[in-house]
Formats: sequence, structure tokens, C-alpha cells
Amino acid sequence: MAFGWIDEQARARRRAGLVRTLRPRAADSPLLDLASNDYLGLARHPETTGAAAEAARVWGGGSTGSRLVTGTTELHGDLERELAEFCGFESALVFSSGYAANLAAVTALAPHGSLIVSDAGNHASLIDGCRLARGTTQVVAHSDPQATRKALDTHRGPAVAVSDTVFSVDGDAAPLPELASVCREFDAGLIVDDAHGLGVLGAGGRGAAHAAGLAGAPDVVVTVTLSKSLGSQGGAVLGPARVIDHLVNAARTFIFDTGLAPAAAGAALAALRLLGREPERAQRARAVAATLYARLTAEGHEAVRPDAAVVSVRAPSRELALRWAADCRSAGLAVGCFRPPSVPDGISRLRLTARADLTDEQVERAVRVIGETRP
Ligand code: PMP
Repeated sequence: MAFGWIDEQARARRRAGLVRTLRPRAADSPLLDLASNDYLGLARHPETTGAAAEAARVWGGGSTGSRLVTGTTELHGDLERELAEFCGFESALVFSSGYAANLAAVTALAPHGSLIVSDAGNHASLIDGCRLARGTTQVVAHSDPQATRKALDTHRGPAVAVSDTVFSVDGDAAPLPELASVCREFDAGLIVDDAHGLGVLGAGGRGAAHAAGLAGAPDVVVTVTLSKSLGSQGGAVLGPARVIDHLVNAARTFIFDTGLAPAAAGAALAALRLLGREPERAQRARAVAATLYARLTAEGHEAVRPDAAVVSVRAPSRELALRWAADCRSAGLAVGCFRPPSVPDGISRLRLTARADLTDEQVERAVRVIGETRP
């Protein structure tokens, strides 16, 4: 039977308790949200939603074509200019998702004969970029610049190191200054995925590269998503103009994909402008994360000290992590649950996201529920 092997996989998944299911979220959900990536609380801000509606009215429900044909509106141009300027880079290129932006950056900047040095904790989209690239990938120990140095030292020819700035599972930050200086020793490029740093780290949320003094560097390329702090959808690559021009001409997920929907571009641009006017939102997201961490560890939970807005709390086992997250939900609190095989280190955790718009009372309530439901 066609696809017969799927049933065996499904049975194995059920036996292991690893079935994933979709749970549509109600617009008026009463849950306290510590599960989304809406770090600055901008996804439903009236300026964001108003800009999305206006962009759809002016430009249409879709961008109507690939970026090189009809899919580039003036809105895309404004977003790219303002995003680059905000983060301190010469140029930016917007994609339909952060995933597509990562595939583009890695595949277009790692040609045949090149070496890609990839952190073991990188996001799936960077991993897939490595798999699709013509270069050879070497995976190195997590957040270990000396391991990157060793890998680069074995290679002659073009090379690039690839890392998340803030790792999505534990919320820990990569050692960017050290990584950049190792790359410079070998004339290697550095591609960093700032999905969880933009809007949270750096002055006024200008991102991890900005915070590390790497903004605008000729050998650094940053990818971002518009779907977390900016409360919209889409992604971008930021870097030197010559790199961005190269992506326009060589990146398959740019050339063959339909341009970002105008509503998403409009929402992201409005959120970016709002962040420019209200830089304290970035600081507040970090402060909420720090409070969550302090309160949870004071209550005896084992958590990872947050470098950005993600707080990871260790659970005793896969089964108990699932039950803990479900019990939180029954008690009115939405939290994320990361467990094997999504996490390769075998450690199950609750993943909490701090939001700038959480009140102190909501943070306390979250800590109370997590404590009361602890398995
Ligand atoms: N990189 C990281 C580190 C992420 O966490 C995500 C989103 N889960 C992405 C890239 C992908 O971005 P998008 O959702 O915009 O495709």
C-alpha cells in the first residue's frame, strides 16, 4: 500500500507517547500566555493590527508574486531599509519566514568546497540550511569557540560559522564576540540567527549582534524572524550590501518563493517603529525573564539563567514534563514543553517565554501555578 510505512511509524510514535496534535487557539482564550514568542506583546497591539489591515487594503491579501517579479511592494522596501538601519547593518532582505531566511543565508554563503561550522544547539532551520548547502558541515560542541577554531583550522578555502544568538531550547546566549574573533583569525564569515535576540537584546532591542559590537561588520550576517518580537510573520537577512545583493541573485528561497504578504510586512514595520519609540519594551522583557527565573529558582525549580526572554525549567522526565504542561494549562497557564526527540540532549523542560506586557501579578500567578502543578 502506498505510504503503508507511515502506519508503522504512527504506531511507534503512539507507543512512545510522542504524538503531536494541533490545538486551535481561541481568539478570546482565557489562558495566561507564557508559551508564545510574542516577547514584546506587539502581535495584538492596535498599531500592529491596524497596519496589517491597512497594508492588506492598499496592497492586497497577498504580494501576488515572487520578489523579483511582482512581489516587492514599496512596503517591502521600507521594511528592509528601516530594519537594516535599526539593527545597524548596511542592507536587509525580507523573506516569507525566518526559516526561509536561514535556508537562504546558509546555502548561498556556503558554496561547493566550503566548510560550515555549525553549533550543536542550532535551530532546525539552520541545520536544514547546512543540509541543503553545497559546502561540508562540521557540527561542533555547543557554545565552544575553541571547537569552532579547531574545525576552521582543518580547512583551506571559504568557511563560515553558523550559530543561534539565543538558543531556542534553553534561552542561553552564544559567545558572539569570541566566535567572531575566532572567525576573523581564519577569514571565515559568521552567520548568526537572532530570532530570539531581536527586540530583546542590545540597546532598545537592536539585537545580539548590536550588543556584541558586531552590527555592520563586513564579515557578519544576521538572520531574524519577524514573527517573535515584531509580532508578525516573515524573516530577514541583514548584512553588507554585497552579501544581500548576492542573496537576491543566488538564494533559492528568495528567488522561487512568493514575496512576504503585505499585511505581514506592514505589521512588522509598525512594530519596528513602535519599538523605536518605546525602547523600554526590550528591557522589560528581559526584566520579566529575570524575575521569572529568580522566583522559580527561589521555589526550588531547576532553571537556566535566561540571557534573553526564554526561561527553561527542567522537568524530571518526558512523561512528567507533558503532564506538568497539561496541568498548567488546566490551571489557566499556557507554557511550552520541550522533550526528546525535539531536544537532542534527552532533557525534558518547560519552556516559558517572558513578555514585556506581563504584569508583576501575572508573573506571580505563573510562578504559583508552576509550583502547584509540579509533578
Ligand atoms: N530560528 C530560530 C532560532 C527560531 O526559534 C525560529 C522559530 N521557531 C526560526 C528560526 C524560524 O523562524 P520563522 O518562524 O519565522 O520561520
